[in-house]
Amino acid sequence: MSASDFYQETAARVEKALQYCDDTQAVVIGEQTLEQVGVFFKRLFPNERAIVVADVTTFALAGKRVLEELAAAGISTDEPFVYNEPDMHAEMRFVDVLKERLAVADAIPVAVGSGTVNDLCKYASSLVGRSYIAVGTAASMDGYASFGASIEYNECKQTFSCPAPRGILIDMDVVCKAPIKMNAAGFADLIAKIPAGADWILADLIGTEPIDTIAWSLVQDSLRDWVANPEGVASGDRKALTFLMEGLIMSGLAMQKAKTSRTASGAEHQFSHLWDNQHHKFNGEAPSHGFKVGVGTVATSALYERILSTWNESTFDAAIIAIPDNFRSWATIEKELEENFGNSGLYETVKRECAKKFVEPNELERRLKLFRNNWVELKTRLSKQLMPAAEIQELIAAAKAPATPEEIGIERTRLQKSYALAQQLRYRYNCLDWMQDMGLWEETVDSLFQANGFWCS
Ligand SMILES: [Zn+2]
Repeated sequence: MSASDFYQETAARVEKALQYCDDTQAVVIGEQTLEQVGVFFKRLFPNERAIVVADVTTFALAGKRVLEELAAAGISTDEPFVYNEPDMHAEMRFVDVLKERLAVADAIPVAVGSGTVNDLCKYASSLVGRSYIAVGTAASMDGYASFGASIEYNECKQTFSCPAPRGILIDMDVVCKAPIKMNAAGFADLIAKIPAGADWILADLIGTEPIDTIAWSLVQDSLRDWVANPEGVASGDRKALTFLMEGLIMSGLAMQKAKTSRTASGAEHQFSHLWDNQHHKFNGEAPSHGFKVGVGTVATSALYERILSTWNESTFDAAIIAIPDNFRSWATIEKELEENFGNSGLYETVKRECAKKFVEPNELERRLKLFRNNWVELKTRLSKQLMPAAEIQELIAAAKAPATPEEIGIERTRLQKSYALAQQLRYRYNCLDWMQDMGLWEETVDSLFQANGFWCS
């Protein structure tokens, strides 16, 4: 295999995925691809003008070059829009200023940056009814190709529905020079698809969110290869980073195909959303999305490990018999939500989500019987899907991302409470809901923090 054959492998897999996507028409991942940006733009937006959108860092890194290449290709360009704010993050006021500028620009945005710039530009572009191009500068998250943008609004991080970019261009020369912690965050966001897949298997079995087999394949078929070289990710190895970038973009394309982020996110992401909405900071800074997701990934993997090593069919029999004793009425849940979220901006959201997933005892019984009657196959499938928590931790650590909660400033007691709060955050059925349905929270989640438990310190 020649040195660059992996680019062709990547291109072939991405090309196959694109046939299922409505928004994104072209993805280029390679070396020295910035010089192709003019041709790329003309192909996707013939006869249009362009406006480069970046922040000061990404403008210096690649934005200036993109501007020069567009001009060299004869494309008329607007004055670039460069964010120069010390506290720049994905927040609505930063969308608003860009939207105002785009509204009078009559040009196609070319977003040069990673998570924040892309999310801001994705949403602002959609608000003015325009598509855009993303030029990614780091393998830091899976949002390049996803529909929807994660933006803070009214002090809550929320996902706003909007189309994915029409084109994505990645220059691996730029990505390889990105700060280690950014690519490390992307690695953690990608390895999260392991327990996220397990959560989807549960939802599929009980019928709340059936698996979309194409979207599943786009994320899961090559996942083990994409996360196989965390040391390479940390050391800037081209192949490792190309595969990481491919995995993140494929995850986005899968979300675009399935029109849901279920394909790429499960309970592990709910830990991250929880800490986002608690405005958690460590050493004065909010840990990156990937860093929080990575800790969530270890947390749910540890829970699955506990389940798979201790449960058998009689566990379900006992849980079915105990339904009348363990059943939590809506009044009980509502009271809990008020205690947990009453003072936060999340209260209405969690109430709506929990109401949506609230079920009566007869539905609970149906579910538990389904789990019981399919336990042998389910256990086999989950075991094949998952990795031991310690192994996930080693991989995350090798990529130079935080593998323990303390590394992002979360104490064990807070982590334990976070399992419970994360469960209430979203309708999406996952391993935390499963523990509630089984009435086995103490025996599973709480036991992780007791003697011989995974989180016993
Ligand atoms: Zn993510």
